[in-house]
Amino acid sequence: MIEPDGWDTPAALPAHAIEVGGDATARPTRNSVGGWPFLDEGQEWPECFCGQRMVLFFQLDIPSDLEPFAGDHLLVFHCRAHNDASEPELSDGRLVSRYWDAPQLPYPRPFWRILLQREAALPTPEPEPSLRAAALTLRPFTDVPGGQGKGSQTFKVGGAPSWAQFPEHYTCACGAELVYVCQVPEGMEFAACPGQPEQPYSVGADTYNLFLGNEVYLLACPAHCDPAAVWPVNQN
Ligand SMILES: [Zn+2]
Ligand SMILES: [Zn+2]
Repeated sequence: MIEPDGWDTPAALPAHAIEVGGDATARPTRNSVGGWPFLDEGQEWPECFCGQRMVLFFQLDIPSDLEPFAGDHLLVFHCRAHNDASEPELSDGRLVSRYWDAPQLPYPRPFWRILLQREAALPTPEPEPSLRAAALTLRPFTDVPGGQGKGSQTFKVGGAPSWAQFPEHYTCACGAELVYVCQVPEGMEFAACPGQPEQPYSVGADTYNLFLGNEVYLLACPAHCDPAAVWPVNQN
């Protein structure tokens, strides 16, 4: 249905609110802030171009009602030392080839790595050292887009993005239209372990954030052309 002003009116969509548990979790769990990353065999823990291992901010299993990513394991890594906003680089109307490794000026490569893993059976031996590990709970809800088709502004997987600015759409280097999968609300803080170095430009001395605290909309390649074929849209 098209409204008179031209905005689509999307239907209600399945979604899951993501709730961060208060207690530090002491053992590997598939849905967590920090903790033990579950990676496919042969997938190394991502490193930033600066040589530091990236921080695992969160990971979760995408619920079975959220096609086309149902059953994938989503992991969001971001460098502690490099904190900036993402800037899409396009070529012929598509994100550039291997955009997950392409220069992100002024940096030689992105300072983040977002992965969709399909065979992530085992946790790494060591947990993420920087962030306080916490279990995530996913609670199903129906995201009913309101004005201009925007979904609820919350930490969630599925549903519709709440777009702080105009909607953004991208075509993967492989030709597929990226599909929204997960949203991290603006200003979300992740609690650091005691004694960890401060993150530049973060709000709190003892918390880290993603992409300068911008709202993050993760758009991923439905063709799964690469485990890292995910683009983090930043808005505020
Ligand atoms: Zn770095
Ligand atoms: Zn692709």
